[in-house]
Amino acid sequence: MRVGCPKEIKNHEYRVGLTPAAVREYVAHGHEVLVETKAGAGIGADDSAYVAAGARIARSVQEVFETADMVVKVKEPQPQEWAQLREGQILYTYLHLAPDPEQAQGLLASGVTAVAYETVTDERGGLPLLAPMSEVAGRLSIQAGATALQKANGGRGVLLGGVPGVLPAKVAVIGGGVVGSHAAQMAVGLGAEVTILDRSLPRLRQLDDIFNGRVRTRYSTIEALEEEVFAADLVIGAVLIPGAAAPKLVTREMLSGMKRGAVIVDVAIDQGGCFETSQATTHSSPTYEVDGVIHYCVANMPGAVPITSAQALNNATLHYGLALADHGLRAIAEDRHLRNGLNVHRGRVTNRAVADALGYEA
Ligand code: NAD
Repeated sequence: MRVGCPKEIKNHEYRVGLTPAAVREYVAHGHEVLVETKAGAGIGADDSAYVAAGARIARSVQEVFETADMVVKVKEPQPQEWAQLREGQILYTYLHLAPDPEQAQGLLASGVTAVAYETVTDERGGLPLLAPMSEVAGRLSIQAGATALQKANGGRGVLLGGVPGVLPAKVAVIGGGVVGSHAAQMAVGLGAEVTILDRSLPRLRQLDDIFNGRVRTRYSTIEALEEEVFAADLVIGAVLIPGAAAPKLVTREMLSGMKRGAVIVDVAIDQGGCFETSQATTHSSPTYEVDGVIHYCVANMPGAVPITSAQALNNATLHYGLALADHGLRAIAEDRHLRNGLNVHRGRVTNRAVADALGYEA
């Protein structure tokens, strides 16, 4: 199969669908890989790295879209990209189609077979191609929070780990899933005093086990939440209710009970955020203040570290990417987890949840 990888064109997207290491794997499976020139510039991989890995460099994006049997990307196709997709071609990328009827129409009209990273499942009911970005965002949230806590950045002016003789900062993590546990791990590593709040007792038990006494766990009632948020220097918002907007767990009124210069990092902002006062921000202007509390609400946090994020994404996408390249549509027919990833095929929206959200028949 000819596998094509165009350069991402969405604003401030520096990741790439195929890293040179992934290209080597496709080539080792006997596939031809066509990479648009400068596709890896954002992760420091130049054309020569791709050539060394066995790829051919396409001088134009048209060549990639016109000749590839499968197109591997990161972000949902933009209008000028979906116009180039065609019947018989496989598109393998993040789509986030449910809230995007315009893109859905573009994909349906193209006739492409589109597999969306975010709806591929695993045996434990998880979303394995979404998890690596949650890992990155969770770990990054503590770096972002620690920076915002510095006085010059508007924060209280506390060091997360304290120093000998000075108490560490308090970090409250709301939601102990992938984002929350990775945030807690980083905060513990820096020496902070960490509490994780969650609504799932089995998850709290598991976290208690994993952290072996290094974090406090608390069932997330309104009262527990208030106490922890009021005491915290840094609050990480990491809740997820699958398929729904994030619940507004911290109200504007609660901000007045928080320490002046405390910091909120609302990782759940991509689902609307779990703080009433959260508004999406960007990497170029990531924070703002409400009632003396610094808010960091960047919706695409992994974009800050594209080298790490692109590798983490490729590690997760490679397995199914190779299956698609090796077996084409048969790979989808034979694997129900990959089939869950199928969003559009032959002019139909095929994923039930996505079809329901868009008002199509699956
Ligand atoms: P996850 O499903 O692994 O974890 C979510 C956790 O929230 C679960 O443990 C669940 O029990 C808990 N929860 C649900 N309701 C709760 C409540 N009322 N109180 C306390 N806990 C509650 O999800 P995840 O992968 O960790 O993702 C968390 C959020 O981060 C999602 O909204 C995701 O979209 C977002 N995210 C954002 C970025 C970004 O760049 N901003 C990147 C990756 C993920």
